[in-house]
Amino acid sequence: MLILQDLTKTYRTRAGEVKALDGVSLQIDQGEFVAVCGPSGSGKTTLLMMIAAMLRPSDGTVRFEERDVYEMTGPARARFRAEKIGFVFQMFHLVPYLNVLENVLLAAAVVRRRNGKAQAVELLQRLGLQHRLGHRPSELSAGEKQRTAIARALLNQPKLILADEPTGNLDPENARCVLRHLQDFQKDGGTVIVATHGPAVQEFATRTINLREGRLVNPQG
Ligand code: ADP
Ligand code: MG
Repeated sequence: MLILQDLTKTYRTRAGEVKALDGVSLQIDQGEFVAVCGPSGSGKTTLLMMIAAMLRPSDGTVRFEERDVYEMTGPARARFRAEKIGFVFQMFHLVPYLNVLENVLLAAAVVRRRNGKAQAVELLQRLGLQHRLGHRPSELSAGEKQRTAIARALLNQPKLILADEPTGNLDPENARCVLRHLQDFQKDGGTVIVATHGPAVQEFATRTINLREGRLVNPQG
Protein backbone atom coordinates (compact mmCIF):
# COMPACT_ATOMS: atom_id res chain seq x y z
CA MET A 1 0.00 0.00 0.00
CA LEU A 2 2.82 2.36 0.91
CA ILE A 3 6.28 2.18 -0.61
CA LEU A 4 9.01 4.54 0.51
CA GLN A 5 12.10 4.53 -1.62
CA ASP A 6 15.37 6.08 -0.55
CA LEU A 7 13.70 8.93 1.31
CA THR A 8 16.07 11.71 2.24
CA LYS A 9 15.39 15.09 3.80
CA THR A 10 17.97 17.78 4.25
CA TYR A 11 16.96 20.94 6.11
CA ARG A 12 18.95 24.05 5.36
CA THR A 13 19.44 26.28 8.36
CA ARG A 14 21.66 29.26 9.04
CA ALA A 15 23.92 26.97 11.03
CA GLY A 16 24.29 24.63 8.05
CA GLU A 17 22.58 21.56 6.67
CA VAL A 18 20.81 18.98 8.80
CA LYS A 19 20.18 15.58 7.26
CA ALA A 20 17.02 14.60 9.14
CA LEU A 21 16.35 11.49 7.05
CA ASP A 22 18.98 9.58 5.14
CA GLY A 23 17.96 7.00 2.56
CA VAL A 24 14.95 5.35 4.20
CA SER A 25 13.31 2.57 2.18
CA LEU A 26 10.30 0.78 3.57
CA GLN A 27 7.15 -1.01 2.49
CA ILE A 28 4.00 -0.96 4.60
CA ASP A 29 0.97 -3.14 3.82
CA GLN A 30 -2.67 -2.45 4.45
CA GLY A 31 -3.72 -3.60 7.92
CA GLU A 32 -0.37 -3.11 9.61
CA PHE A 33 0.08 -1.22 12.87
CA VAL A 34 3.62 0.09 12.65
CA ALA A 35 5.47 1.69 15.56
CA VAL A 36 8.27 4.03 14.44
CA CYS A 37 10.63 4.25 17.40
CA GLY A 38 13.65 6.41 17.98
CA PRO A 39 15.01 9.08 20.28
CA SER A 40 14.14 12.73 19.90
CA GLY A 41 15.78 14.11 16.77
CA SER A 42 16.00 10.76 14.96
CA GLY A 43 13.67 11.87 12.15
CA LYS A 44 10.27 10.43 13.19
CA THR A 45 8.25 13.60 12.59
CA THR A 46 10.03 14.27 9.31
CA LEU A 47 9.20 10.74 8.12
CA LEU A 48 5.52 11.03 9.11
CA MET A 49 5.12 14.43 7.45
CA MET A 50 6.57 13.09 4.21
CA ILE A 51 4.23 10.07 4.28
CA ALA A 52 1.34 12.48 5.01
CA ALA A 53 1.98 14.37 1.76
CA MET A 54 2.84 17.47 3.76
CA LEU A 55 6.62 17.65 3.31
CA ARG A 56 8.41 17.12 0.02
CA PRO A 57 11.48 14.90 0.28
CA SER A 58 14.86 16.22 -0.86
CA ASP A 59 15.31 12.90 -2.57
CA GLY A 60 13.40 9.64 -2.97
CA THR A 61 9.75 8.80 -3.50
CA VAL A 62 6.57 8.12 -1.53
CA ARG A 63 4.17 5.83 -3.37
CA PHE A 64 0.68 5.35 -1.92
CA GLU A 65 -1.55 2.81 -3.66
CA GLU A 66 0.72 2.97 -6.72
CA ARG A 67 0.67 6.76 -6.97
CA ASP A 68 3.73 8.94 -6.53
CA VAL A 69 2.46 11.42 -3.94
CA TYR A 70 4.83 14.25 -4.83
CA GLU A 71 4.18 13.95 -8.57
CA MET A 72 0.60 15.10 -7.97
CA THR A 73 -0.31 18.77 -8.40
CA GLY A 74 -0.76 20.74 -5.18
CA PRO A 75 -4.60 20.62 -5.22
CA ALA A 76 -4.64 16.90 -6.11
CA ARG A 77 -2.26 16.21 -3.26
CA ALA A 78 -4.42 18.21 -0.84
CA ARG A 79 -7.51 16.22 -1.86
CA PHE A 80 -5.58 12.97 -1.60
CA ARG A 81 -4.44 13.90 1.89
CA ALA A 82 -7.96 14.83 3.04
CA GLU A 83 -9.52 11.65 1.67
CA LYS A 84 -6.91 9.02 2.48
CA ILE A 85 -5.02 10.17 5.53
CA GLY A 86 -5.93 11.02 9.10
CA PHE A 87 -3.34 12.74 11.26
CA VAL A 88 -3.12 12.82 15.07
CA PHE A 89 -0.62 15.13 16.78
CA GLN A 90 0.99 15.00 20.21
CA MET A 91 -0.34 18.47 21.05
CA PHE A 92 -3.86 17.66 19.73
CA HIS A 93 -4.09 20.75 17.47
CA LEU A 94 -7.75 21.42 18.19
CA VAL A 95 -9.21 24.82 17.35
CA PRO A 96 -9.71 26.50 20.72
CA TYR A 97 -12.85 28.51 19.88
CA LEU A 98 -14.74 25.56 18.36
CA ASN A 99 -16.46 22.90 20.45
CA VAL A 100 -15.78 19.16 20.22
CA LEU A 101 -18.37 18.47 17.52
CA GLU A 102 -17.28 21.47 15.45
CA ASN A 103 -13.63 20.47 15.68
CA VAL A 104 -14.47 17.02 14.31
CA LEU A 105 -16.63 18.52 11.57
CA LEU A 106 -13.66 20.53 10.29
CA ALA A 107 -12.55 17.33 8.59
CA ALA A 108 -15.95 17.03 6.86
CA ALA A 109 -15.66 20.60 5.61
CA VAL A 110 -12.40 19.80 3.87
CA VAL A 111 -13.95 17.11 1.66
CA ARG A 112 -17.48 18.60 1.63
CA ARG A 113 -18.83 15.47 3.22
CA ARG A 114 -22.59 15.15 3.55
CA ASN A 115 -24.10 13.56 6.66
CA GLY A 116 -20.92 14.65 8.37
CA LYS A 117 -22.74 15.70 11.49
CA ALA A 118 -24.53 12.40 12.10
CA GLN A 119 -21.31 10.51 11.51
CA ALA A 120 -19.33 12.82 13.77
CA VAL A 121 -21.84 12.37 16.59
CA GLU A 122 -21.75 8.59 16.17
CA LEU A 123 -17.96 8.56 16.20
CA LEU A 124 -17.79 10.76 19.28
CA GLN A 125 -20.22 8.37 20.97
CA ARG A 126 -18.00 5.44 20.14
CA LEU A 127 -15.04 7.32 21.61
CA GLY A 128 -16.97 8.00 24.81
CA LEU A 129 -17.39 11.74 24.25
CA GLN A 130 -21.18 11.95 23.82
CA HIS A 131 -21.39 14.11 26.96
CA ARG A 132 -18.73 16.54 25.68
CA LEU A 133 -20.06 17.54 22.24
CA GLY A 134 -20.60 21.19 23.18
CA HIS A 135 -17.42 21.63 25.22
CA ARG A 136 -14.44 23.68 24.09
CA PRO A 137 -10.98 22.08 24.16
CA SER A 138 -10.01 24.12 27.23
CA GLU A 139 -12.82 22.34 29.11
CA LEU A 140 -11.51 18.86 28.29
CA SER A 141 -8.95 16.55 29.87
CA ALA A 142 -5.88 15.64 27.81
CA GLY A 143 -7.35 12.20 27.10
CA GLU A 144 -10.62 13.74 25.89
CA LYS A 145 -8.72 16.17 23.66
CA GLN A 146 -6.82 13.33 22.04
CA ARG A 147 -10.00 11.28 21.54
CA THR A 148 -11.53 14.33 19.85
CA ALA A 149 -8.49 14.51 17.58
CA ILE A 150 -8.90 10.81 16.79
CA ALA A 151 -12.56 11.34 15.89
CA ARG A 152 -11.48 14.15 13.54
CA ALA A 153 -8.87 11.88 11.97
CA LEU A 154 -11.41 9.06 11.50
CA LEU A 155 -14.31 11.10 10.12
CA ASN A 156 -13.42 10.86 6.44
CA GLN A 157 -12.82 7.11 6.73
CA PRO A 158 -9.14 7.34 5.77
CA LYS A 159 -7.04 4.39 4.65
CA LEU A 160 -4.12 5.43 6.81
CA ILE A 161 -3.80 7.05 10.21
CA LEU A 162 -0.52 8.71 11.10
CA ALA A 163 -0.02 9.61 14.74
CA ASP A 164 3.00 11.58 15.95
CA GLU A 165 3.64 10.76 19.61
CA PRO A 166 -0.13 10.72 20.25
CA THR A 167 0.31 9.57 23.84
CA GLY A 168 3.16 11.94 24.73
CA ASN A 169 0.92 14.12 26.88
CA LEU A 170 -1.27 11.39 28.37
CA ASP A 171 -1.13 9.31 31.53
CA PRO A 172 -0.73 5.54 31.00
CA GLU A 173 -4.45 4.79 31.25
CA ASN A 174 -5.47 7.41 28.69
CA ALA A 175 -2.54 6.43 26.50
CA ARG A 176 -3.80 2.85 26.33
CA CYS A 177 -7.31 4.08 25.62
CA VAL A 178 -6.08 6.13 22.64
CA LEU A 179 -3.98 3.23 21.34
CA ARG A 180 -6.95 0.86 21.65
CA HIS A 181 -9.01 3.17 19.45
CA LEU A 182 -6.23 3.22 16.87
CA GLN A 183 -6.14 -0.57 17.11
CA ASP A 184 -9.90 -0.78 16.51
CA PHE A 185 -9.37 1.18 13.29
CA GLN A 186 -6.60 -1.22 12.29
CA LYS A 187 -8.73 -4.29 13.06
CA ASP A 188 -11.38 -2.88 10.73
CA GLY A 189 -8.79 -3.00 7.94
CA GLY A 190 -7.11 0.38 8.38
CA THR A 191 -3.38 1.00 8.50
CA VAL A 192 -1.73 2.79 11.41
CA ILE A 193 1.72 4.32 11.77
CA VAL A 194 2.62 5.71 15.18
CA ALA A 195 5.82 7.59 15.99
CA THR A 196 6.93 7.16 19.57
CA HIS A 197 9.97 7.29 21.79
CA GLY A 198 8.40 5.22 24.54
CA PRO A 199 7.71 1.49 24.78
CA ALA A 200 3.92 1.62 25.37
CA VAL A 201 2.97 1.47 21.69
CA GLN A 202 4.84 -1.74 21.04
CA GLU A 203 2.24 -4.02 22.59
CA PHE A 204 -0.27 -2.72 20.02
CA ALA A 205 2.07 -2.71 17.03
CA THR A 206 2.28 -5.55 14.54
CA ARG A 207 5.73 -4.29 13.55
CA THR A 208 8.32 -2.00 15.09
CA ILE A 209 10.90 -0.10 13.09
CA ASN A 210 13.75 1.82 14.64
CA LEU A 211 15.21 5.11 13.46
CA ARG A 212 18.60 6.44 14.53
CA GLU A 213 19.94 9.67 13.12
CA GLY A 214 17.69 9.44 10.11
CA ARG A 215 18.42 5.85 9.20
CA LEU A 216 16.57 2.58 9.75
CA VAL A 217 18.32 0.35 12.24
CA ASN A 218 16.53 -2.92 11.49
CA PRO A 219 14.99 -2.61 8.03
CA GLN A 220 13.40 -6.07 8.29
CA GLY A 221 11.61 -5.10 11.52
P1 ADP B 1 11.95 13.49 15.84
O1 ADP B 1 10.51 13.66 15.48
O2 ADP B 1 12.39 12.05 15.86
O3 ADP B 1 12.30 14.18 17.12
P2 ADP B 1 12.49 15.32 13.66
O4 ADP B 1 12.05 14.71 12.38
O5 ADP B 1 11.61 16.34 14.27
O6 ADP B 1 12.84 14.16 14.69
O7 ADP B 1 13.91 16.00 13.46
C1 ADP B 1 15.02 15.32 12.89
C2 ADP B 1 16.20 16.29 12.78
O8 ADP B 1 15.88 17.33 11.85
C3 ADP B 1 16.55 16.99 14.08
O9 ADP B 1 17.95 17.13 14.12
C4 ADP B 1 15.87 18.32 13.95
O10 ADP B 1 16.54 19.30 14.69
C5 ADP B 1 15.95 18.59 12.47
N1 ADP B 1 14.81 19.39 11.98
C6 ADP B 1 13.50 19.05 12.03
N2 ADP B 1 12.72 19.97 11.44
C7 ADP B 1 13.56 20.96 11.01
C8 ADP B 1 13.38 22.19 10.32
N3 ADP B 1 12.16 22.61 9.94
N4 ADP B 1 14.48 22.92 10.04
C9 ADP B 1 15.70 22.50 10.39
N5 ADP B 1 15.95 21.35 11.03
C10 ADP B 1 14.90 20.58 11.35
MG1 MG C 1 8.94 14.47 16.50
